[in-house]
Amino acid sequence: MIISYRFCVAGFYEAHKLPEPVDSTQVSQIIVDTFSSAHGVTFIKGDNYNFKGERDVPSTLAQCIKMRYKCQQQARKFTASKHDYTKTRNRVRKLQRFDCKGQISIYFPNAQSDASFDFALDYRHAIHEGSKHFGVPKCIRDWIHNNPQPSPLFQREALIQAIKRGELPTVKYRYFPVSHISYWWRKKVAERTYISKDAWVNVDNILRNHPSVFTGNGAF
Ligand SMILES: [Zn+2]
Repeated sequence: MIISYRFCVAGFYEAHKLPEPVDSTQVSQIIVDTFSSAHGVTFIKGDNYNFKGERDVPSTLAQCIKMRYKCQQQARKFTASKHDYTKTRNRVRKLQRFDCKGQISIYFPNAQSDASFDFALDYRHAIHEGSKHFGVPKCIRDWIHNNPQPSPLFQREALIQAIKRGELPTVKYRYFPVSHISYWWRKKVAERTYISKDAWVNVDNILRNHPSVFTGNGAF
C-alpha cells in the first residue's frame, strides 16, 4: 500500500520562528525528520534542482526549487570494485534491501514568486519491511478507528490524552512509538479517508479545516 500526501504549507516559518530569508535545507530537514519519525522510515538527501513542471503537478509549483529525499532502503547500484584482484575484498553480503522508490519532494517558491505558501510537499512511500507495527492492543486499534485524527502525530497525541482521561481503562499508560501508531492510523484512518485516486484532492479534503497545516481556501 502506498501512502501519499501532497499539500501546501503556509505559516510554517512563523510557527517555527525561522528568520527570513529561510534556509531551505534547514527547513527540509525539519520536514523530513518529522515524516521519518512519524512513519518509521529513514530518508536520505537526494538531488535538488529548478523544477520546470510536470503533468500531474499544479502549475503553481513550476519554477520552484525542488528538493528530494529518498527512502534509505532504495537498492544500491552495483559498482565494480576498484581494488586489484589480488587484494582481499569484503565478501560479506549486504543485508537484504527492499528496493523502495519512496521519496519526499519539497517545493520551495523562488525569490521572485508571490506564492501564498511557504512550501509544498509531496510524500510517497509504500509500507515495507522495517516499518514496525506489532504490539498495539486491539482496543487501541479500535479506538483509532473510532477517533480518526488528521495525521499520525495528532492521532498519537489524542490517544495519549484519551488514555490519561481513562477512556481506555484496560490500557495503562505506556510508550507507543509513533511508527506503531502511524501504521494503525494508516490502516484505520488513511485507507478509509483517502478515497480519491488524486492525492492532491484527498489531502485538500483532509486538511482543509486544519489551520496549523493549511491556510486559505486550499487552492494552489
Ligand atoms: Zn521505503
